[in-house]
Amino acid sequence: MAVSNLEELEKIMPLSEDEKKWREIGPSLSMLISDHILSIIDKNDPADPIRREFVPTRFENIGSGESIDPLMEVEHSRTERLIHRYSNRAALLVTSRCFAYCRHCFRRRFTSNDDGKISKEEIREASNYLKEHREIREVLLTGGDMFTLSDDEIDYLLRELKSAREDIIYRLCTRAFLSAPERFTPSLLAIIKRHMHGAPFLLMCQFNHPRELTEKAVKAVSSFIDMGIPAFNQAVLLEGVNDSVDVQEELSYALLYNRIKPYYLFQGDLVDGTAHLRCSLRKGLEIEKDLRKRVSGVAMPQYTIDLPEGGGKVVLTENYVLGLKDGMWQIKSPFQGKRDYPEKDESV
Ligand SMILES: *Cc1c(COP(=O)(O)O)cnc(C)c1O
Ligand code: SF4
Repeated sequence: MAVSNLEELEKIMPLSEDEKKWREIGPSLSMLISDHILSIIDKNDPADPIRREFVPTRFENIGSGESIDPLMEVEHSRTERLIHRYSNRAALLVTSRCFAYCRHCFRRRFTSNDDGKISKEEIREASNYLKEHREIREVLLTGGDMFTLSDDEIDYLLRELKSAREDIIYRLCTRAFLSAPERFTPSLLAIIKRHMHGAPFLLMCQFNHPRELTEKAVKAVSSFIDMGIPAFNQAVLLEGVNDSVDVQEELSYALLYNRIKPYYLFQGDLVDGTAHLRCSLRKGLEIEKDLRKRVSGVAMPQYTIDLPEGGGKVVLTENYVLGLKDGMWQIKSPFQGKRDYPEKDESV
């Protein structure tokens, strides 16, 4: 059974003082840890990376004065549930529920609260918005976790969205492969398959540590890929979870071996209650630089920051382009020294 309070958790594993002192105050996120996650937590190691992702500690309640919506998603919301920040793509918050709540969740202003799931009226509103905004080519179905909806609700949602705009690439965003792999039943997969007309679906996973790619998780992801849905991973760089180049290298290849393309490695957003899980930007840049030398191009995620005050996403990398001097670009080699490359002379 999933665990939703410290008393139940304490019966399963010994808790540290920092964990025991967690309280539901301020903008804190509810606690919920699913069976499958419990099964992979090392219960005798307080520093276990999976445990850090899901077991809350008192550090969440140290008011850092940071925002609960640094990306200004609320301001960019066009309907109750649709965030339209980039002209050609939008995010639809289909539910506030997840199978487990990640302590680093950047959308904790919304996740686990009572707004619950999207209503038929809100689906209609979102569909109308999409019909009127032909510039939107991709829509992220997110939340929360869309797969907490029932089969019938998912069927309804996809039917309405596809009949509004069949040409939109819908991204199925979920952490349920880790938190509830048993959710991906043949009947759910049959529903997805039924709506695979028009533009493709893309599967967006969030695996943060190689140990999360369990046999069950991988099997569930494979069932999507086998249907012809490409899979991508969006990891979050987290202190004490995956903030080392060794773990990142192992994660990248574990993903690739399972046909999942490492897409993003996110720098933590400045969300109140998550500071203790955030990796320093300096260290993140070091990891990015070292990882790039160790893995192939396809295994390399884009280290990305979502700028505060709704500034948008920016890919971060070592600065290789040093400048343009006398018609020559000076570019640093990742191996040694720098090289010159001429700017094209348009008069020739
Ligand atoms: C991240 C994000 C997207 C998708 O961005 P990509 O860079 O295409 O993955 C779309 N809408 C919102 C609001 C986002 O935060
Ligand atoms: S699964 Fe996603 S939305 Fe849900 S708590 Fe984790 S990060 Fe937040």
